Amino acid sequence: MNILLVDDSPLSRKIIITRIPEEIKGTSSIIQGSNGQEAVDLYKEHRPDIVFLDLTMPVMDGYEALDQIMAYDKGACVYVITADIQKKAQEKVLASGAAALETKPIDEERLAKIFSRINQE
Ligand SMILES: [Mg+2]
Repeated sequence: MNILLVDDSPLSRKIIITRIPEEIKGTSSIIQGSNGQEAVDLYKEHRPDIVFLDLTMPVMDGYEALDQIMAYDKGACVYVITADIQKKAQEKVLASGAAALETKPIDEERLAKIFSRINQE
């Protein structure tokens, strides 16, 4: 599986990688980016099976990156992982086509659920 992980915080990326189920990590390549523009560029280059996307980032934020990724591939599987727990943020990303909005810090259990959902598709 190709996993694209985009967050401007190296620590946030590290936490997510640590919590991805071992059996997934062992058979996947994890591509990392640190802003929205990289998210769009890396998506086009690697066509990942799943994207984990932060919202608040420099250069281009996660909202714009999500819109551009969905415009490029309407079947894209994008999970937004953010500290912004406002209802408005959730409504906005779901309207843009995100699979779900998960709040930071995401735990092992929720990540495992996401991957089992993906594997069933
Ligand atoms: Mg951020």
